[in-house]
Amino acid sequence: MNTGRIKRRDILIGTTATIGVIAFDPVEKLWITDVQAQSTSSITIPNLDGQLLLDPESLAAVADDFGHIIKKTPMAVLQPGSKRDIAKIIRYANRFGIKVAMRGQGHTTYGQAQVDAGVVIDSKTLNKIHHISSTQVIVEPGVLILDLLKATLAQGLTPKVFPDYLGLSVGGLLQVGGIGGHTQKFGLFADNVLEVQAILGKGVSTVSSLNKKPSLFNSLIGGLGQFGIITQTTLPLIGAPTHARVYQLSYTSLQQYIADQNQAVTDGRFNYLEGQVIANPSSTTGWTYLLEAASYYTPPQAPSDSLLDGLSPDGGTTIDEFSYFDWQNRLAPLVAALQESGVWQFPHPWLDLFIPNSKVESYIHQVLQNLKSTDVNGPILLYPFLRSKLTRPFIKVPSEEIIYLFSILRTAPSDDPNTVQAMVAANRSLFEQARDQGGKSYRISAFPFSPQDWIEHFARSWNKFRRQKVSLDPKNILTPGQGIFNQ
Ligand SMILES: Cc1cc2nc3c(=O)[nH]c(=O)nc-3n(C[C@H](O)[C@H](O)[C@H](O)COP(=O)(O)OP(=O)(O)OC[C@H]3O[C@@H](n4cnc5c(N)ncnc54)[C@H](O)[C@@H]3O)c2cc1C
Repeated sequence: MNTGRIKRRDILIGTTATIGVIAFDPVEKLWITDVQAQSTSSITIPNLDGQLLLDPESLAAVADDFGHIIKKTPMAVLQPGSKRDIAKIIRYANRFGIKVAMRGQGHTTYGQAQVDAGVVIDSKTLNKIHHISSTQVIVEPGVLILDLLKATLAQGLTPKVFPDYLGLSVGGLLQVGGIGGHTQKFGLFADNVLEVQAILGKGVSTVSSLNKKPSLFNSLIGGLGQFGIITQTTLPLIGAPTHARVYQLSYTSLQQYIADQNQAVTDGRFNYLEGQVIANPSSTTGWTYLLEAASYYTPPQAPSDSLLDGLSPDGGTTIDEFSYFDWQNRLAPLVAALQESGVWQFPHPWLDLFIPNSKVESYIHQVLQNLKSTDVNGPILLYPFLRSKLTRPFIKVPSEEIIYLFSILRTAPSDDPNTVQAMVAANRSLFEQARDQGGKSYRISAFPFSPQDWIEHFARSWNKFRRQKVSLDPKNILTPGQGIFNQ
């Protein structure tokens, strides 16, 4: 496919661009200038507030993601200057059967935000924080969680839920879920939304909330980008503490680790609760376990270390103090180091699963028996949350009340496609073992998912999901990279 008719210097900005109005040639399936349009059967796109990029560098930048495994090149990248631009492109896409997806930071790992021969809408230009009140904030989808935290903390406020890494977009997190150490208290990032504005796949602009069009609201949030492009959202805020006391409890026994995690998640004693499996050659199994918890406070108040009562780590405990901001932003130094060393650009065949509590010990035991730390080269997360805190019907998790996130955050060598494929295959195999025990896949993972997998994934929600697709995105143009309706 030829996408090279407009050079980089000819970037178009609606009617104010030097070249003029942009057009789409439905026969050749390419975007062209108004001058070229005069000699073809093209259709003009009037008055974009932003710009539509066609140059190879811009296309290549979105034909990739943090996984660096899948590469799908779009025909164009829209940097929207307004919500109107998104509506215009979606209406065009409907007319000509062009696939469209919004891209946040592209931190999913298996092409979820990519569009082969379609249009990627880059949310980075929709990054305004519109209004902060004492209880809520109105933001555009391209806002990074880091910027959201900085802006709200400046007013003594904070969002309720954070992912571990703050360089993710609001829009991307709202689609996939967004899990972290506060999920045990407040659910996923996607559970903490008051209102959402979106352009539906059929090109209609909507506003919805739990009170106004709740079914639409519950589809747009956690809907994996299948029903609409989120253009603005209102998130709840709470008062921010200034400090975090962080506890790290080490275990040699998986059984004791699970028992203590279950106790902590059930009694809700910590503000933050996560944990990891640690490769440890000096342990008899090769692995130890780290329960990581935090209690927030604002001096002169301080948490009591009786918070640790009843927990039985056999490998020691450390206690550290952080500012609330530094704690939420704790991965920043590591990410900077990975970026500087180039490892950030290596393939990341990540696996993220949800495992029911009743199976977690036996499942993890079995997985770790067959896993070498060199199969991972990254962290392994293992921590619980409560199903009753989750509210979005299309974010699927196991049916038990205590659920564990189990993430193998692999890094593969940059020049070894065979290892990448072996890791992807291993992910698939571990998913199947988990699925057979009631587990679910967190759909940011890197492994193939067939149409039958999707039907099983949504289970009793599948018919509703499919009906919503037909109703809200009848031409099936949105977010093909999830592979739900496009295989
Ligand atoms: C270093 C790192 C740390 C991470 N830590 C966590 C973590 O702690 N917890 C967690 O839950 N996840 C974590 N993730 C995964 C992350 O949550 C997902 O990648 C998520 O998709 C958000 O990232 P993003 O902004 O890059 O979204 P993208 O990957 O760009 O988008 C995700 C999906 O949403 C769609 N989309 C994006 N914006 C919109 C919109 N406005 N409207 C409609 N559809 C849209 C995209 O098309 C895509 O299908 C991490 C990823 C990395 C690389």
